[in-house]
Amino acid sequence: MARGLILDRDGTLVDFVRDPELGSVSPAFHPDHLRLLPGVVDGLRAFAAAGYLLAIATNQPDAAKGRIPVRAIARTNQALVALLGRHGIAIAGIECCLHHPEGGPGGDPALVRTCDGRKPGPGMLLRLVARLGLDPAASWLVGDTENDLGAARAAGLRCALVVPVRRCDICPLANRPPGAGAPDLVASRLDELAGVLLAEPPAPC
Ligand SMILES: [Mg+2]
Ligand SMILES: [Zn+2]
Repeated sequence: MARGLILDRDGTLVDFVRDPELGSVSPAFHPDHLRLLPGVVDGLRAFAAAGYLLAIATNQPDAAKGRIPVRAIARTNQALVALLGRHGIAIAGIECCLHHPEGGPGGDPALVRTCDGRKPGPGMLLRLVARLGLDPAASWLVGDTENDLGAARAAGLRCALVVPVRRCDICPLANRPPGAGAPDLVASRLDELAGVLLAEPPAPC
């Protein structure tokens, strides 16, 4: 069985789209929006070189909420995989949950429902584990929110949070004491995470 690194998309691999004039923040919804976060390319290269299969699991509820068309989400996801590919990084699988329990004005009613794939549900992670033949005990979810942590726990994966210095909103999550649902590892960037995680001595057989 393979070791896997399942990555959240927004806030972990790519930055949010910020409009300082409007004060708005939204997930990237066009290929031109894609800005890889610092450390992502070097970090993913290091994990791939160490034998990890790389995958993406992303909640994208904005079509259900009537904010972004499904085709824009799909095109942006494809563009992200292609962008990483141009950096020599292969993504073995991608799962995207389009559902949202409440939806929003103008949202696609077919997408408004609960879904076990939507993080913190484990569905997307379990599908990737099955499809890619991953060993859950040797695989990690890397994310930036409580939902990512919950999904990792529910799927039986280890969890690392990448917490940029400016994201003070998630400091309490990252600094939780062990036993109170703390993540297994916290780093400020993906290359730093690779340095820490890949330096760990291998677990005894
Ligand atoms: Mg995120
Ligand atoms: Zn879903």
